[in-house]
Amino acid sequence: MKFNDNFGRLPPSYVFAGLAVKKNLARKKWGDELIDLGIGDVKLPLFGCVAEEMKKAADELTNVDGFKGYPPASGYDFLKDAIISDYEKIGVKLCRDEIFVHDGAKGELFALNSLMGRNGKILFPVPCYPAALESAIIYGNEPILLPADENGSVLPPFGKSCDAVYLCSPSNPSGKTLSEYELGLWVDYASSVGATLFFDGAYSDYVSSGGIKSVYLVSGAKKCAVAIRFFSKGYGFTGIRLGFTVAPQEQRELNDLRKRLSGSLDNGVSYVTQRGGAACFSTEGQAEMLERTKYYKTNAEILRNALKERGLKIVSGSDSPYVYAKCPDGFTDEGFCALLSDKAGVIATPGSGFYEQNGDYFRLSAFPSREEVSKAAERFIALRL
Ligand code: PLP
Repeated sequence: MKFNDNFGRLPPSYVFAGLAVKKNLARKKWGDELIDLGIGDVKLPLFGCVAEEMKKAADELTNVDGFKGYPPASGYDFLKDAIISDYEKIGVKLCRDEIFVHDGAKGELFALNSLMGRNGKILFPVPCYPAALESAIIYGNEPILLPADENGSVLPPFGKSCDAVYLCSPSNPSGKTLSEYELGLWVDYASSVGATLFFDGAYSDYVSSGGIKSVYLVSGAKKCAVAIRFFSKGYGFTGIRLGFTVAPQEQRELNDLRKRLSGSLDNGVSYVTQRGGAACFSTEGQAEMLERTKYYKTNAEILRNALKERGLKIVSGSDSPYVYAKCPDGFTDEGFCALLSDKAGVIATPGSGFYEQNGDYFRLSAFPSREEVSKAAERFIALRL
């Protein structure tokens, strides 16, 4: 067969596959003392109320009457209704027809690329979540990189045309949360050039400091924005796998295509998983999520304070489980991350792994335990440069 040449346009390995090799080398020196602030995977366990609901759902499946085979392609109504109620709380009205349940945001970024014609121009403010950009490359679309300024900000290029824009807020990796004004500018821009706004709201659950929780709170967004959400980092579903996409009816053709895709793409998400997802929206689930995100955000604050004490410029804000900072003068991102790993036993991710163009930044994940994060903070403060 003739292979897809676009793979040749990617780096040889995905950023975290490359990092895992470096981590294994560092483990030889540091053993159990190595602290991994590299990949952003959650460490705290599943909420009790979610697990209970999933157990009940599994029990139902053991009865002839309760057994369920293939789920509905775009998700069970009970989960869609829970999502609709959650949006209603912030004043956004959705209907079942606009919600597409899937097994996580990463695969969905690929799915959304498949709705676009090939060679489509997609704008990516960088640094950005690498799988988003790489899915565009693999599909033969043309990513256009817009480098962020020192504060992690990128303004829309009014007057320049494109087919789509990928935005993530709070951003992975930069931890920057777009204000309503900034998001409004992007919605105006996308509308003015007829582009679709792929809004990755993966970390919306982390927004608490008055920031905007949904792109649909911006006027005009339903006409151009598609929102991608997941349960991974707010509810600890990185292993269970669950997410959903909102494709508003105001974008009739896009909604129709996403619906059509559901039939061909996969056979849906398991009943047990979706019951667990619905439990996330219960009063108990929401209270747990707030506690959990607070824990990770406090971890991030501990790391930010340590880096500030070292005089480093921090880009990330307080609504993120990531810390993104500029390397000390005289260091490249690869060089500084290598030094951190060797001298402090701390794994960090170089900003270039997120397509940051100058090789000047690094990202720390605040998902490990408080004890590990505090120890890493002490090691930053003690590190000799
Ligand atoms: N989008 C962003 C911005 C992410 O940071 C991640 C994971 O870290 C994903 C999407 C993919 O998430 P998942 O596939 O776990 O739903």
